[in-house]
Amino acid sequence: MVAKLSDDQLVFSIRTLARNERKISRAILEHVVEVEIRRLYADLGYSSMFDWLVRDLGYSESAAYRRLQSARLIRAVPEAILKVESGALNLTTLSKTQTAIRNEERRTGTKVDAQTKAEIVSQIDCKSSRETDVKLAQIFPDAVVTPEKVRELGGDRIRVELVLTREQYENIERAREVMSHSHFGASLGEIVSVATSEFLKRRDPLRRVLKQPKGMSHGDTAAEVNEVKARKAIEKASRRREAKSETELSPAEVLMDGAGRSAAAQGATDLLIRTSTKKSPGVSSQLRNKILKKAGAKCEFRDERSGQVCGSRYQVQVDHIKPRALGGDNSSKNLRALCRTHNLLFAERILGRRSVRSHFK
Ligand SMILES: [Zn+2]
Repeated sequence: MVAKLSDDQLVFSIRTLARNERKISRAILEHVVEVEIRRLYADLGYSSMFDWLVRDLGYSESAAYRRLQSARLIRAVPEAILKVESGALNLTTLSKTQTAIRNEERRTGTKVDAQTKAEIVSQIDCKSSRETDVKLAQIFPDAVVTPEKVRELGGDRIRVELVLTREQYENIERAREVMSHSHFGASLGEIVSVATSEFLKRRDPLRRVLKQPKGMSHGDTAAEVNEVKARKAIEKASRRREAKSETELSPAEVLMDGAGRSAAAQGATDLLIRTSTKKSPGVSSQLRNKILKKAGAKCEFRDERSGQVCGSRYQVQVDHIKPRALGGDNSSKNLRALCRTHNLLFAERILGRRSVRSHFK
């Protein structure tokens, strides 16, 4: 079909297609913005917009990332959408800009306001990808712009390239000193490996050991005794933090307490208001661990219409199926593992979206 077109027809045809492609890009971005505002991905059983773009819409991870980042910049600077259609801005230049803005916000700990974002967008107008890089490096000279690189080397070896701040690197050097008894001359890879194993032993519900280690027997070296003492001190501090968090509530439950203080809540939340002031004991570490282990430390949310199960392993916490404020108990039958997105979704279903939004932005 294409092979039969004359040269003029071929050029005309591809120009028309490219124009249509930009129109579609604009429409896709507008839809992505709106889906994220309505958080529809949560109802559909996905833990994030990114997850939904990849697993439901079938975008590659990099294509999903570009669309999501671009949509977030469009949300802050709505007028820029017209330039997507004209071609003055595209998914690459927009997403690079949004990423640079986010890096800068992380670095400084302060938000870049909408006015500044609009000015930055005007500076990348009609720029190529490379020109955008140069412009962004001028605007944010201190932001870390080198992306992390992860590359499979075959077998069980993976090459990781990353940029650390000086402080982060000094922490690694300090870790090298601290572990110099047990791992003399450890490489960077070994330091990261030992540190992450220690962390996962204490915090990963799939590996966590809750029992206290047995005491040392006679004949242990002084170094080993000191190491056990240090480990016990760390575990004691960690238990103290845990004991504190046992009494912490999931987002839905925090909201119910919040609603209890709010005179504006109506309807179903009235019941919550009356019952939420009662304090109840938290879920024990052992039970929390058991629930998370049973769920494989994955979010158990399931969309009833499609059967889509979330399965996210990010920010997973134990949630009461029947909220404690509504008389739900701490039995394992009443507990489930949910990611933060789905914890908030249930809070929204009970208390209404506006109430939840005002608490968790
Ligand atoms: Zn989830």
